[in-house]
Formats: sequence, C-alpha cells, structure tokens
Amino acid sequence: MWRALKFCVIAAIILALAWWMAALPGDVTADAGTYRITTSAPVALLLILVVVAVLLMLLRVLGGLRRAPGRFSDWRGGRRAQAGELALQRGVVAVAAGDAAGARSAAGKARTLLGDTAFTQWLSAEAAQLAGEGEQARQAFERLTHSKEMKFLGHQGLLRQSLRAGQDEEAARQAEAAEAAYPGSAWTRGQRLALAVRERNYTAALRLTQMPKERAALAVAAAENAETPKLALDFAKQAVKADPTCPMAIAAMAKALRSVGKERAARNALLAGWKRAPHPLLAAAWPAPDATPLERAQAAALLAKENPGHVESELLLGETALAAQLTGEARRHAEAALKAGNSDGRAEAILARLDGRAVPAITPAWRCSSCQTQQEHWSCTCPACGKLGTMAANVPGKALMTTQG
Ligand SMILES: [Zn+2]
Repeated sequence: MWRALKFCVIAAIILALAWWMAALPGDVTADAGTYRITTSAPVALLLILVVVAVLLMLLRVLGGLRRAPGRFSDWRGGRRAQAGELALQRGVVAVAAGDAAGARSAAGKARTLLGDTAFTQWLSAEAAQLAGEGEQARQAFERLTHSKEMKFLGHQGLLRQSLRAGQDEEAARQAEAAEAAYPGSAWTRGQRLALAVRERNYTAALRLTQMPKERAALAVAAAENAETPKLALDFAKQAVKADPTCPMAIAAMAKALRSVGKERAARNALLAGWKRAPHPLLAAAWPAPDATPLERAQAAALLAKENPGHVESELLLGETALAAQLTGEARRHAEAALKAGNSDGRAEAILARLDGRAVPAITPAWRCSSCQTQQEHWSCTCPACGKLGTMAANVPGKALMTTQG
C-alpha cells in the first residue's frame, strides 16, 4: 500500500519535472573553437543531467577499484583465521587424546596462522608437555602466566610440572598463584590439599576440605602430631564431629581427654563410641593400663553392655575371658561371635586357643573404601592408592545380632 503510494508520488514529481523542462523557453549555445552547438533549453538540461550521472558512475567504479586490494586482504585474513581456528580445534582434541605428534603439528600450524596468541601458546605448551619436552613446555607455560585471561592455565601447567618433578615448594607457590588467578577452583583446592597432606601439614589440609571422612582422617592425624595436649584435644573433637563413627577419631578423643586429665570424660567418650560403632581400638583404650586380666574381663563387660550382642562386644568378652582363663565364658562368647557372623578369624582364634589347635590367620583390621586394599594399620591416606580418608574398619560380619538368638 505504502509502496504503491510512494511510487505514485515519485512518478508525479518526475512528470511534473519533465513537463516543466519541456516548457522551458529559449536556446542554449556552446562555443568550442570553430564549433558552435545550439540546442533548446530542455535538451541542454537533459544533457547536463546525463553528464553528471555518467561522472557519478565513473567515480563509483574508481572508488571500488581503489578498495579492491583491502577487500582481498580481508578475505584472505578471514580464510587464515578460519584455518587457524581449525588447527586450534584439532590441537585441543589431540591434547585430550594424548596424541603428542598430532598436538605438536596442530600447534605449529595454529601459531603460523594466528601468531603468538594466549591460546596458541597454551596449545604449544601442552603439546610440548605431551611430547616430554619439559623445558620447552615450562617456558611456554611461563609465558602464558602473563596473559590476563589465561594465566590460570599457565600456573596450572607449571604446578603439574612441579608435582611430577617432586618439587613441592615450587608446586605450592604455583598452587597459590593459580588460586589467585582463578579463586575457588575445585581443581586447585584438590592439588593444594594433596600437597598439604604430602607435607604432613594437616592443619593447612583441614582448611581445604569439607568432606567428613577426609576431615576426620586429617583431624586424627593432626591430633597425633599436635604439639600440646590441648591442641590434640581440639583436633580430636573436630575428628569426632566430622565422623562420629570413626573409631580412630573416638580413640583419639579418649586419648586426648586423658592427657588433659579428664579421665571420666574419656571413659564416657569410649562408652558413647562403643554404642555408635564398636571397634577393637576402643576396647584397647578402655581398661586401665595396669589392670590384671581379670580386671580387664570385668571392665570389658561394662563396655559390652553399651552394645549387647554386637559381634565386637562378643569378641571383646571372648578375648578378655580367654586372657583371664575363664574358658567357659570365652567359648560361649566366641561361639556367639561366630553366630553373629564374625568371619575375620578372631572368633576362630579364641576357639583354637581353647582347643590347643593352630591359630588361624586374622584378616587385617582396615580396608580402603576406594581400592579395597586391606591394611593392618590405619593411616590418614591409603598406602596403596594414596586417597585421603578412605581407610575404614574391615567390618567382620553382621553389625547387630543378639547372643540369645
Ligand atoms: Zn586405597
């Protein structure tokens, strides 16, 4: 509708102009040397218009010709950027796939096409790292740390290199720089945690994890290494708070309470711990160190009362009865432990001793929940897989059974 109206208006204007031109009176004469051209005014005006239009067209063509080389170079630049981008993509995939040769070739191509950008530097560094050219990779990562946007990747690369080389101090420095470059990164926190554990700096490590099992293990280790009994108690409390069922934490708490003279609180902690999660460690900490075998058997009954019928309660009663030469009691509790599902050899060992038979091997007390390796002793990190807070009691049989079943 509007277009039609616009067309009508323009047509009307042109018609009016043509009519006005056609109606112009008089002639126009042009002299050039011996030539003289005379024509009517409308024709002369039309000629001028034609000449102006031709001149405008000529100027346009000349302008286009002048801009042509720039446009060509733009087109070429676009093609280069596209090829460079493709090389980068291929390089990233090669790095992820662990293809050293592919990564290196793509990195070279990307640098030729795109120059020394932060991204091509990162790819070159990763490609060199993959090819085992440590020094070249280090230099490239070092250069990357000057990039505003990608400095984290530079520090990350340097941190990985120092960890591999066992340079813990340099690794700690790079970890801090990486944290500053990208605060709150889970990756950096994990690396700093692993470093702190490796350096046995459990206090620093505790600040880097919120995982209950990890916190409990670290706090137990911190309590074991604490400089004062009061500090040991603080850490033991943190351990129990993080994982109230961790026998190492409960035992550490009892030990720390005793060392600050709180015997009653220590005994209460052991009783509460036995109720929650009975474990031989708690049984070992329960009686007075100078108690006779009979006194130990009597003390064991008090602890076992907190969790009657539990396989650990039966084993404790059986073992202490055997030591006190209460053979009937020892046999009864060993058989009850077997009935409750004890399968680690401890109940069998009591019976074998009573019968004068060879004592069977006993399954190690701890097991890594990650790699399933069994260990005789607890440790903060698994000696086999190195994971933190994965050592758990090797549960010997069913958790709860009654002796009168
Ligand atoms: Zn493990």
